[in-house]
Amino acid sequence: MTSAGRFAPSPSGELHVGNLRTAILAWLFAQSTGRRFLMRVEDLDRARAGAEAGQLRDLAAVGVTWDGGVVRQTDREPLYREAIERLRAAGLTYECFCTRREIQDAPSAPHAPQGAYPGTCRSLTDGEREAKRAVRPAATRLRSTVAEATVRDLLHGSFTGVVDDFVLRRNDGVNAYNLAVVVDDAAQGVDQVVRGDDLLPSTPRQAYLASLLGLPAPEYAHVPLVVNRDGARLAKRDGAVTLADLALAGVSAPEVRDTLLASLGLPAGPLEHAVPSFDPALLPREPWVWPGMAGAGA
Ligand SMILES: [Zn+2]
Repeated sequence: MTSAGRFAPSPSGELHVGNLRTAILAWLFAQSTGRRFLMRVEDLDRARAGAEAGQLRDLAAVGVTWDGGVVRQTDREPLYREAIERLRAAGLTYECFCTRREIQDAPSAPHAPQGAYPGTCRSLTDGEREAKRAVRPAATRLRSTVAEATVRDLLHGSFTGVVDDFVLRRNDGVNAYNLAVVVDDAAQGVDQVVRGDDLLPSTPRQAYLASLLGLPAPEYAHVPLVVNRDGARLAKRDGAVTLADLALAGVSAPEVRDTLLASLGLPAGPLEHAVPSFDPALLPREPWVWPGMAGAGA
């Protein structure tokens, strides 16, 4: 399988200019390194009817193209099940019956990193498990043997983060993002992951999980987010930040594309024209403040 990059939107609503900027970056990283570029819809959770079609239309409108068909995670349940089964057979999973509240209230183990699962259900007896099963369905957690892991990132360098007993499958049967993303990237031959840097902290978990499954970890590039004037992550409430709203304000998709390219120090025009001058080393390392566009200010 040839190497590939990808964009993987969650169809929970409309893409905003921050999402589109990340997609353009992922596309440029892939094109400039001779990779295929794949489109994967991460619809395991919070999918909203009609959102996928709108997102794909908006991506195409700013020039983001992809190779092959669109892959949807909801079509890939057997792959996730097989991965969890392999981990279970290796003694690397356990059932967890904790509510969110119980996890919050549990005393954390000494030296446990902040936000890490406290391990409440790690050593339940068969009898305890039996009793708990009668009360609530179990989530499946990874039985991690490390407390942290280190990944290499093209923009962040070496990054070390927490690896706890994270959830692989929620107690409502939904496969967790950390599992699905690892399984899918490997199965699709994705060896370059470009995405927003809000996902950097969970990346060591994913790299560790990949190693347990005998899968290669991809090359990572976590790119800065787009923020509003208060420095908060851009959101719908920040005014006209989607192509649809910007169009109503008289701003065309190519104009949005050119503004996003300019924010990256890249020339205006079709994305192909930006490929020769694209150099990850020259990318801004700071979040970009969305300035609003003519007549459509936030
Ligand atoms: Zn638990």
